[in-house]
Amino acid sequence: MTDQVLVPTSRDEAVSLYGSGEGLTVVAGGTIVLPEIAAGRLTPTRALMLHRAALDTTRSEDGRHVIGAMVPVEALLDHPVGLLAETARHIADAEVRRNATVGGNICAPPGLDAQRGDLGAPLIALGARVRSAGADGERTEAIEDFLANRSGRLVLEVELDDVERRTTGDGLRRRHAHSYAIAAVVGAVRSDTSELRLAAAGVAPTAVRLRTVEQSRNPDDVLQDVDPVDDAVATAAYRKAILPKLVREALDRLEHA
Ligand SMILES: Cc1cc2nc3c(=O)[nH]c(=O)nc-3n(C[C@H](O)[C@H](O)[C@H](O)COP(=O)(O)OP(=O)(O)OC[C@H]3O[C@@H](n4cnc5c(N)ncnc54)[C@H](O)[C@@H]3O)c2cc1C
Repeated sequence: MTDQVLVPTSRDEAVSLYGSGEGLTVVAGGTIVLPEIAAGRLTPTRALMLHRAALDTTRSEDGRHVIGAMVPVEALLDHPVGLLAETARHIADAEVRRNATVGGNICAPPGLDAQRGDLGAPLIALGARVRSAGADGERTEAIEDFLANRSGRLVLEVELDDVERRTTGDGLRRRHAHSYAIAAVVGAVRSDTSELRLAAAGVAPTAVRLRTVEQSRNPDDVLQDVDPVDDAVATAAYRKAILPKLVREALDRLEHA
């Protein structure tokens, strides 16, 4: 039974009520949290509900795109950055996407049956940064750093530079709308700096940046960057077998884009 339900009505109030996050369950769209509560796997004593916290806007300013943590995944289908729109289109179905939020997706804990957090891969490839709050105040960091150490943080917004890029995003998934990715490899090359960034999702508890492959351009190096897991969707062995192929295809597509 939840003893205390906190409903901030502004960004600042959300940050203040969150504090260090100790003993608090953040509820965004609830597409993960609410089934967990209903199944008895999660029993929050204090809940921070973000639906009125004014974190649900997107804006493009000063050469950046800024996406609030409470922006629904469905809204990304119209985002000017095509790679984000395309990834969002493959997450769940429209009904889930209307409730599911960007912040909830990048904070999604590993599922019982499948890996989640598909938006992490395009956001890594696009060089996105996460603005979050916690015990030491607010900070902005690269999304791959945030994903590696995200406990005790309240996501406020995600930002990325508004620049030209060649991009590719592809993966394997089952056909049903409620299916999860078996593996996805996403890449982007900035037109102004030629910087290549690659990421994988659906294979490990969070999306992972493929730093070794970015340097070597050797698809077989992908297993130095990511340690695939077993789940109900696919075995680790299968993921290890297909990842180099997906990386090779991504590199080829980026070269010829
Ligand atoms: C049928 C179905 C299909 C799905 N398919 C996919 C899929 O294909 N790909 C995929 O990636 N996901 C999928 N999901 C998982 C999930 O719905 C999404 O990841 C969604 O974006 C989670 O967002 P939410 O707002 O509902 O999160 P919530 O359920 O509210 O929260 C999820 C987690 O994030 C935390 N959290 C939420 N917001 C914040 C914040 N601002 N700061 C800090 N912590 C926060 C919560 O405390 C909780 O631990 C699916 C879910 C369902 C039910």
